Amino acid sequence: MNTSYILKKAIIINNKKSKKVHAGRSLKKIGVMGGTFNPIHYGHLATAEAVRNKYDLDKIIFMPSGNPPHKSKKEIIDKKHRYNMTMIATMSNIYFEASDIEIKREGMTYTVDTLEQLKKIYKNSQIFFITGADALCDIDSWKYLDKNFELATFVGATRPGIESAKVNQKIDQLKQKYNANIVNIYVPSLDISSTDLRNRIKKIESIKYLLPENVEKYIYKNNLYR
Ligand code: ATP
Ligand code: MG
Repeated sequence: MNTSYILKKAIIINNKKSKKVHAGRSLKKIGVMGGTFNPIHYGHLATAEAVRNKYDLDKIIFMPSGNPPHKSKKEIIDKKHRYNMTMIATMSNIYFEASDIEIKREGMTYTVDTLEQLKKIYKNSQIFFITGADALCDIDSWKYLDKNFELATFVGATRPGIESAKVNQKIDQLKQKYNANIVNIYVPSLDISSTDLRNRIKKIESIKYLLPENVEKYIYKNNLYR
């Protein structure tokens, strides 16, 4: 299958999925996996699936960031490509979908605005915002942190390289300071990062088996990260 066919298919599937919430229960449980996804890889996907499974979530929305305040701009490729790769990566899981809410927003994108928007779309819902351990440890820099904790339950997922003692300490601190609702989850270790993938591509090293094959094809086809 060629890449443009795969992308077309991914867009059609994603459109269908975004209208559905799978469970019949009245309180929906919606997971949100935020990230730059530059590019998306198996660390993101395995983490989201582990959270979905453990907390019996109705769906997980992958939310590529538009203009993230915490990242240096020069390494971040066009949001359209990051969104396309996210749709391709999530197409084979009926519970996963990609959202363009953040990439459509002008200016800096803050999670708090996204959570507010999602609360309006999914009226009777509990939102689980998923973060890797590194992101959770850096959370103090977020805008309106207290409001974020009012709007969502936060899930801190283990990530190789981040000590669990440090994460637990952070969680305790956030619970005390903000009365935050935070749970943590062990995810089978996948020591994969987008930074490492970008470096490998630059050095013309293999990235096979670190991200979905169709995402790999999309990267080469569009000559990304060279
Ligand atoms: P970069 O190296 O560019 O920062 P990244 O691999 O860290 O990329 P992000 O888009 O920054 O990916 O991450 C989005 C979210 O996914 C963050 O909460 C991050 O902690 C989490 N995450 C990324 N990779 C993993 C992994 N291998 N295991 C667990 N969580 C991960
Ligand atoms: Mg990161």
